[in-house]
Order: sequence, then C-alpha cells, then structure tokens
Amino acid sequence: MDNNTEHYDAIIVGTGPGGGIVARDLTKQGKTVLIIERGDYAPTRGTLAQMISRGWIPGTQMPVTTQLKPVVRGITTGGTSMLYTATAAQPPFELLEKYGVNIRTEIAEIRDELPIAPIRDELMSPAAILFMRSAQELGYDCQKLDKFIYQDKCLRDCDSCIKGCPHDAKWNSRFLVDEAVLKGATIINNAKVKRVITKDDRAIGVEYKRGTKTLTANASTIVIAAGGIGSPLILRNSGFTGVGENVCMDPILAVFGKIKGLQGSGRAVPMMTGFHLKEEGIMIADLHVPKLLKQFFDLHALNVTKVGEFADVIPIMVKVRDELSGRIHNDGLLKKDISAADKAKLSKGEKIAQAVLKQAGAKKTYSSQIVGAHPGASVKIGEHVDENLKTRFDGLYVCDCSVYPEALGLPPSLMILGLGKRLAKHLASPSNRVIKKESARIATLS
Ligand SMILES: Cc1cc2nc3c(=O)[nH]c(=O)nc-3n(C[C@H](O)[C@H](O)[C@H](O)COP(=O)(O)OP(=O)(O)OC[C@H]3O[C@@H](n4cnc5c(N)ncnc54)[C@H](O)[C@@H]3O)c2cc1C
Repeated sequence: MDNNTEHYDAIIVGTGPGGGIVARDLTKQGKTVLIIERGDYAPTRGTLAQMISRGWIPGTQMPVTTQLKPVVRGITTGGTSMLYTATAAQPPFELLEKYGVNIRTEIAEIRDELPIAPIRDELMSPAAILFMRSAQELGYDCQKLDKFIYQDKCLRDCDSCIKGCPHDAKWNSRFLVDEAVLKGATIINNAKVKRVITKDDRAIGVEYKRGTKTLTANASTIVIAAGGIGSPLILRNSGFTGVGENVCMDPILAVFGKIKGLQGSGRAVPMMTGFHLKEEGIMIADLHVPKLLKQFFDLHALNVTKVGEFADVIPIMVKVRDELSGRIHNDGLLKKDISAADKAKLSKGEKIAQAVLKQAGAKKTYSSQIVGAHPGASVKIGEHVDENLKTRFDGLYVCDCSVYPEALGLPPSLMILGLGKRLAKHLASPSNRVIKKESARIATLS
C-alpha cells in the first residue's frame, strides 16, 4: 500500500454540494485541504453521451433498485449537481430544528452569495407558462420556483440543463471546487475511497483506490460527502453498523400530455414553476427534458408508440416524500419497494398532474415509470451523526444528502449547502483546533 505522506488539515471525500462547500469554506479559512473524488474533472460539453457517462450507466453510476427503478446520481467533480435541474427549494427549517440543527443564518448567507432567483419572464417557455396558468386555474398555488442559475448566461430554447450546462449558466458545486483548488486545495480525481482509517476513537485518514493502486492519505478532519449511497458504503467498510438502512429516494414520475400547436416544450430550463402540497408530501412542477431522455422514459414504461412524439408534449413532474423503507446493499444496489402508501401518494400526484394537463388542453395523458431522484437519510442526524454532523469517531463527519433525519420530498441541494456551511464554521471553532493538534500527533505516531 502506498502512502501519501503529506498531512492535511482536512480530507473531503466527494464533491457534490455537501463536499464542495465544506472544501471551499475550509480552504478559505486557510486550512490545507485534500479533496478525493471518484469521478473525473473533464470540462462539461452538454452532450447526451457525457450525461450518460456521468450518471446514467446502470450498475455503476446509476444504482438500480430491486424493482428495476433507476436512481440517478452523478459521478464526476460536482457530483449530482452536474445533472440536476437547479431548483433551490427553501429547506424545512422546523424539521431540522427538531434535531438541534439551525441553518437559517447559513441559508441567508448562501442566498446572498449564489445566483438564486425565479426565472426571468424572457426565459420562460410557453409550456411552463401554460402549466402554471392551468394549475392556478384549478386553485393550486403554482408559482415560479427559485433556480440556481446565472440568468445572464442562460439561453432560451436550450436543453442543456440536465445534460450538463456547457455555458456556465447552471450553478453547480464544481464552481465551489474550482474556487477551493484555485485557493490551494489539492484534488485527486478518479479515486474511490474505500474506508476511513481510525485509531482508538479518532479518524486519522482514508484508504482509497486509484487505478490498480491502493493508497492512503492522512488528515485531522475527514468529511465524508460521497452522497446518499456512497457515504453509508464507506462508513460500513469502516466498521459502522446500521447505516444505509431505512433510506428514502424521493421517487418521481413524469406525466405527459400532448397539446397541439405548442412547440419546443423540451427546450427550456426544467422546473421553472411548480407547487408543493406540504401536508401530503407531493411536489408538482413543469419538467422540460431533452428528447432522448423523454424517449428513455417512454421505453422504460413500454409506451413505445409515444417515442416519436416530442415538441408539443408537456411533461409534468410528480415527486413525493416516500417512506423510509429502502436499504442499500454492499454492492450499491438499493432495495426499495415502493410501498402502498408511496403508491397512493404518487397516484394522487399523478391525478393532479393529469387534471392540470387537461386544463391546459391535453386530450390524453400518459405516465412514465418511477425514477429515484434523491437517495438520502442513509446516515441520519440523531442516529449516526450528531447535530454537528460528527460520527462516533472524533474528527469524522458526514455532510451530504445522507444526513437528512427524515425523508424530505423536496429538492435538497440548498439544505445540503446550508449544512456544509454550518459544518465549516463548526470546524473553525477553537475547540476543534485543540482536537486538530492531538490528531496530528496521533497521525505522526501511527
Ligand atoms: C435528474 C436530477 C435532478 C435533480 N434536480 C435537483 C434540483 O433541481 N434541486 C435540488 O436541490 N436537487 C436536485 N437533485 C438532487 C441533487 O442533485 C442531489 O441531492 C445533490 O447533488 C446531492 O448532493 P450530495 O453532496 O449529497 O451528493 P452528490 O452530489 O451525489 O455528490 C457525491 C459525490 O461523491 C462522489 N463519490 C461517491 N462515492 C465516492 C467514493 N467512494 N470516493 C470518492 N468520491 C465518491 C461522487 O462522484 C460525487 O461527486 C436532482 C437529482 C437528479 C438526479
């Protein structure tokens, strides 16, 4: 086994919103930071081939549930935010506060820093305008949603969002990683962390695989941010039990309706408008998807006759807060049966989406199969990490979508960013500087 002899203040594993913000903020504090990322750092081209290679290959990037439902996640620098639809949903503050976690200040700071705003009228698509108006006519509080988008760079009639924006208009956590690297952080790409190395009650490093080599790196603080599926697997390999159990995946489905004369519905920012039925745990939004992705949805649901239809078809997304009934297998497969309660919620959302499409003028509608959008709650606050995201080992933290204490049924990136910002502040506190010294000593002795 080869060792990286350098000793870092912090190692961050994974570069999605959780890892990205902690890496950037710790680097800004003057800490020496090593980022280890399983995926590449290749420039974003905005092609379907690159989108598939980053997040849609079954069994590798894309875990598949035992019911053959795909769960999409990005394996590249920037993680799943390279493929996301960039909706910035306000976090459920009260839910987190029940667990002693208050991120209101951090969210206000992030809102000041990042380009978070509803889409300007000139970028709105006819499909989104029609969807919003039709939902409002039926009495739903459908509004423009906040997006993480530099709107001065965003193009009309563009379908790049989900593929990966090559115009730097869609904000993603790679911006944070770039900033961290520019300020002195080191990044190792194409490196898969296997486990955390511990000594007594303290984490002192990680073991990772790069090509055929197994290597180690040492630090006083380790932050695991490998996502809802990656993080519990690393912790399990490090001796944790109970992680990766009772997980959620925020199942979504798309409902399609054809509206004659409506052109270009696939070429716009997805989820520009929507509404959230908080009590029921159902979110409904417009969803512009590239043609090939719509065809994937059609074929996956055996809607073979629909494959040729595209330009005048409006897709609507239904996402629900599901039960914590999934389990992550050691090979990354997700055992998640869509329970009767989940099915009932999806069916209620589907009926609402159908009604909105009919109101908009669609004669017939049809639905896709279910896809998992946000696997999470696999290393829960209050169970596996404390309110500061610390595990039972000193110096070992988890910061990503695995730490939600409950299922959200909401786009989680803004919440994850808030948690990461709060963690970076916590790590800067004087008590942690004392721990840092002790661990540096342990690492030197080991
Ligand atoms: C199609 C789609 C649309 C979405 N739209 C939205 C949206 O509009 N708004 C929103 O808020 N959320 C959205 N999401 C969800 C959002 O992108 C994720 O919830 C978010 O990116 C999770 O952040 P994370 O830091 O937890 O993990 P990720 O972003 O998944 O990052 C994990 C990182 O860890 C790396 N990694 C994994 N295992 C290892 C390992 N063993 N060693 C080293 N590195 C590892 C991965 O390569 C990746 O870079 C969407 C998701 C999908 C799939």
